[in-house]
Amino acid sequence: MTQSVKPYPLHFKPEFKERVWGGRELERFGYDVPEGHIGEGWMIADHPNGVSHVINGELAGQGLDQIREALGAEWFGSKGSQSGNGRFPLLIKLLDCNDDLSVQVHPTDDYAGLPKGELGKTEMWYVLDAKPGAKIIYGLKPGVNRESFAAAISEGRIMDTLQEVSVEAGDTFYIPAGTVHALCAGVLVAEIQQNSDTTYRVYDYDRPGLDGKPRELHIEDSLNVTAYEGAGATRMKTDGAKPGEWLTLAKSPYFVTDKGVVRGEWKLSTVPESFDILIVAEGTGSIRWESGLLDAKAGDCFLLPANLGDYSLAGEMTVLRSRVE
Ligand code: ZN
Repeated sequence: MTQSVKPYPLHFKPEFKERVWGGRELERFGYDVPEGHIGEGWMIADHPNGVSHVINGELAGQGLDQIREALGAEWFGSKGSQSGNGRFPLLIKLLDCNDDLSVQVHPTDDYAGLPKGELGKTEMWYVLDAKPGAKIIYGLKPGVNRESFAAAISEGRIMDTLQEVSVEAGDTFYIPAGTVHALCAGVLVAEIQQNSDTTYRVYDYDRPGLDGKPRELHIEDSLNVTAYEGAGATRMKTDGAKPGEWLTLAKSPYFVTDKGVVRGEWKLSTVPESFDILIVAEGTGSIRWESGLLDAKAGDCFLLPANLGDYSLAGEMTVLRSRVE
């Protein structure tokens, strides 16, 4: 790969993953979704368990891992190229929850039980769509501690210890490592997370996995990494976002994500510290930069290099912008 590629917004072919809780909703974005219960689309991924490949421009066919090796220092920004475990710092997914996901919790970066080379996982969700009455599990009920949580798990009444909240399109959930959580049936979500695939499963509804056998649980690790006093989880409604202004949804040590409503043309710019990741949540429009123009529509995810500079969004769409700060 030549070092002299001019920066441009990268669009990737997603890596789709079959999950026991998955469905067919990701087809609505026009993707060629493989058969089966497809739960996850890894839209921008540079992980041993999945790498996304570019479908546009001069770098078409290249994996994000190859781009990181050849151009990362220049294209990911002074902070975006230094964070994480040497790989691209974030993992961007779309999730179709046709059934309930396991109740789970993720470790922080310093958890001693982490697999070698893996990071902790702080994540956030933006709800793209939700069926009427849809709920998720978000944190422990007040007062639950390690002892009472462990007792509830072993006595088969874990649900008594968990907070359930109703969700609708536009809701945002920030889920720092240590927060017990589960997406539930009927929600379609954009997920922004640390580049990690480490999940400790506390409860899986006693159901069989894709192979007919129950999926493994990780009770001891879960009890170890759960933040009983809270980890700083926050949630918000985001319908107050105004055209041409960024509304901050989450500010973490790993990513800062803002929501923006595009009506007409909006002039923007990348910063030297970080790439911009754009997830189109709704609508259609375009991205224009010095030497090109790309169409954009709901479900598209783009990686704009830190050295792209000025660009503009146009059309009628809602976007989520994530950076490393
Ligand atoms: Zn999770």
